[in-house]
Amino acid sequence: MIRSYKFLMRPTVGQTQALGEMLRDHCSLYNGALQERRDAYRHVSKTSVKYGMQSAQLKEIRAFDPERQGRWSFSSQQATLRRLDKAFAAFFRRVKSGDTPGYPRFRGVTWFDTVEFPKDGDGCRWDSTTHDLVTRVRLQGVGHVKVHQHRAVVGRVKTVSVKREGRKWFVVLTAEQEQPEPLPATGSAVGIDLGIANFLADSGGGFVPNPRHGRSNAARLEAALQALAKFPRVRRDQRSANHRRTVEKVAKLRGKVGRQRLDHAHKTALALVREHDFIAHENLTIRNMLKTVAPKPDPDKPGTFLPNGAAAKTGLNRSISDAGWGVFLTILHAKAESAGREVIAVNPRNTSRRCPQCGHTSADNRTTQAKFHCAGCGHTAHADTVGAINVLRAGLVRREAQPA
Ligand SMILES: [Zn+2]
Repeated sequence: MIRSYKFLMRPTVGQTQALGEMLRDHCSLYNGALQERRDAYRHVSKTSVKYGMQSAQLKEIRAFDPERQGRWSFSSQQATLRRLDKAFAAFFRRVKSGDTPGYPRFRGVTWFDTVEFPKDGDGCRWDSTTHDLVTRVRLQGVGHVKVHQHRAVVGRVKTVSVKREGRKWFVVLTAEQEQPEPLPATGSAVGIDLGIANFLADSGGGFVPNPRHGRSNAARLEAALQALAKFPRVRRDQRSANHRRTVEKVAKLRGKVGRQRLDHAHKTALALVREHDFIAHENLTIRNMLKTVAPKPDPDKPGTFLPNGAAAKTGLNRSISDAGWGVFLTILHAKAESAGREVIAVNPRNTSRRCPQCGHTSADNRTTQAKFHCAGCGHTAHADTVGAINVLRAGLVRREAQPA
């Protein structure tokens, strides 16, 4: 299965210029090839120029113009010629069917906004600096361009495209996910509650612990981050040797923690998808909004608020675990889709407060972070298990409401 991803790029000033030149030169290649086809078509012989003939000329064009055409990826130039070929194929198809389509047009440089690289690793490289914190894509003639990768890419990257939209630059990827054997139905449905103490609790009473063992890489990363915070914020080239070593250590540990987290997420998602036909989870975006600490009014000064007491550290831990859940859910959705399983995100409102036995819904039911004790019927359970049961219930209600 092919899936596509679009990420904002953050090119430097020099890279922005190079990207503009890359578009300009691909545009002029496109127009030049179009001109050649037009001339040939208008000639008495009505010669039709084919892609293969134009592609064969590329080597010469590049050698003749090393400053411009010679700078860019050969394969991306072939892709541009292929685009022209497609435009002509569509044109002739419509002529044949009796339409009177417009002849393929020259593109102004502002109308030419995409360069395609048909194969990752050929003139481009997705995630070219794996040792670094920041994701980059390497583009021939441009360099390693920073990418704002806001979600995980699942599967193997096949094609890479660069796209200009207004003043912004994007990289568009297509990635192929391995297609596992479609799994046999199990007749089982599950709800999951993502947490901090445990990575997740399921509605059957099971728990998946967080990937921590002893003085783990996560703890070492935290220590390294604290050490890094002690250095003054200075330019890269003004850092001391110690400072540089700490930066490197942080980057290395981040990579390790990220890989561990990814591995854990894959295993956890695979186990869920194997066992259940239907999986319900909380909608994280809504959940984050609900969990923001409410401001407390200051009784002494009406109209003002007390500090809400949420420590900065909690915020950090929270954002780290949020990132982990996001990665996990992306993988879960992808695996479920390819295995023919159904995954539903539900509104988490009241999932931690409603008694699964009697339906009594109250904040008083949640006695501690970990314990649920119903004020109505006396039912007790682990609070996260209760959350997961309510998530499953909400998921099944939603499925009823929207028949497939
Ligand atoms: Zn109850």
